Amino acid sequence: MKNIGILGSTGSIGTQTLEIVRNNKDLQVTALAAGSNVLKMEEQIREFKPEIAVMWSQEAANELRVRTADTSTNVLSGMEGLLEIASMEKLEVLVTAIVGMIGIKPTITAILSGKTIALANKETLVTAGHIIMPLAAEKNVSILPVDSEHSAIFQSMHGENRERVSKLLLTASGGPFRGRKREELTDITVEDALRHPNWSMGRKITVDSATLVNKGLEVIEAKWLFGVSPEKIQVVVHPQSIIHSMVEYADGGIMAQLGVPDMKLPIQYALFYPDRRPMEGKRVDFYELASMSFERPDTETFRGLLMAYDAIREGGSMPTVYNAANEKAVSLFLDRKIKFLEIYDLIQGAMEHHKTVKFPSVEEILDAEAEAYEYIAASRRF
Ligand code: NDP
Repeated sequence: MKNIGILGSTGSIGTQTLEIVRNNKDLQVTALAAGSNVLKMEEQIREFKPEIAVMWSQEAANELRVRTADTSTNVLSGMEGLLEIASMEKLEVLVTAIVGMIGIKPTITAILSGKTIALANKETLVTAGHIIMPLAAEKNVSILPVDSEHSAIFQSMHGENRERVSKLLLTASGGPFRGRKREELTDITVEDALRHPNWSMGRKITVDSATLVNKGLEVIEAKWLFGVSPEKIQVVVHPQSIIHSMVEYADGGIMAQLGVPDMKLPIQYALFYPDRRPMEGKRVDFYELASMSFERPDTETFRGLLMAYDAIREGGSMPTVYNAANEKAVSLFLDRKIKFLEIYDLIQGAMEHHKTVKFPSVEEILDAEAEAYEYIAASRRF
C-alpha cells in the first residue's frame, strides 16, 4: 500500500489523481487539501476517507468540520494545515497540484520530511527552483514531474546518460489562437481563451496556454528539473499534441514520448515510477492520425514566451515577478477587468519595474510576488 497526499484535490489534476486511485487498489489517500470547495471536499472525504483534510480558508474548514462530523477525518486549515500534511509520517508521495506560489512552503517541508514529490505545481519550481532542487538533492528526495511535457522529457531520459543531452525539445499545441496575429487578438473574450483545442485543464493554465506564458513557465521549470541551460531548451509548436516532448542527444538521436493528450498518464507514471501500470483509455491510432506537423512559435504575437527567456536569463527573483504578474493579470482577465493583450503589458511592466534579488530566500520570493501585485494594482488602479 502506498500512502499519498494531494494538495489541490478538488482541481483538474487533483480529481484526475483520484481517478487513478480508484483504479489502483494499492494506493491509499492519507490527506487531501483544497482552497474553498467544501462540497467537493466532503464528497472526497466520504469516498477516500483521508486522515486529514485541509481547507485554505478558515471559514471553509469550519463548514467542512460540521458537514463531516460523522467521519473520522481531522479537518485543518491554512498554511499550518498544508504543512501538517507535508510532514505526516505515513505519507510517501505528495502530489502538489495546488495553483500558485502557495505550494513553495509545503514542498520544502515535504522534502525535509523525505517524501517523494509528484510535482504539478510548476510555480514552485519557477520561483524557488534554486532552493527546491539543491534541497531535494541533499535530502535524496525524488521530484517526479507531472506536467505532461516534463514527464515526457523525464521518460525520454530513462536509462540515458544525462550528460549526453544536447537539447530539450518542448512541444506546445500553440493554444486556441495559433496562427492569429496581434490585431486579431484585441477583442478575445474569456470564453474564447478557455477553449483549448486539445487539453482539458484548470482555468488559469488554460489562459496561460493561450498566451504561451504556460510554455514560458515550462521552459523555466525544465531548466530546474533537468539542469539544462535555457539556450538548450527549444519550443516547438506541434498542434496535434501527440508528441509530448523530446530529448536530443549528442549523437543527433532524438527520444520522444507520445500518447493521446490525457494528464492521467503522466500523473500515474509519477505515482508508480519506475513501473508502468496498465491504464484503460484511448490509444494513438497512427492510421487515423495520418500526419503530425511542427512550427516555430510566433513569439511576436505571443510575447509571453520570450519574456520567460528574459526572466530566466536575469534569474534571481525575476521569474517570480514574471509568474506573479501573470497570475494577477490572468485573474483580472478572467474577471473581465482587462483585455487579453493587456496580460502581456502588465507582465512586462512589472518586470521592468522590478530590481532583481540574486538569490532570494522564500520570504524574498514572497516579497517579490507582493511587489508585482502592488505594481499592477497601482498601475491600473484596480
Ligand atoms: P485547478 O484550478 O483546476 O485546481 C486548483 C486546486 O488547488 C483546487 O483543488 C483548489 O481548491 C486548490 N487550491 C487553490 N488555492 C489553494 C490554497 N490556497 N490552498 C489549498 N488549495 C488550494 O488547477 P489545475 O489542477 O489545472 O492546476 C494545478 C497545478 O498544476 C498548477 O500549478 C498548474 O500549472 C499545474 N498543471 C496543471 C495541468 C492540467 O492539466 N490541469 C497540467 C500541468 C500542470 P478549490 O477547488 O477549493 O479552489
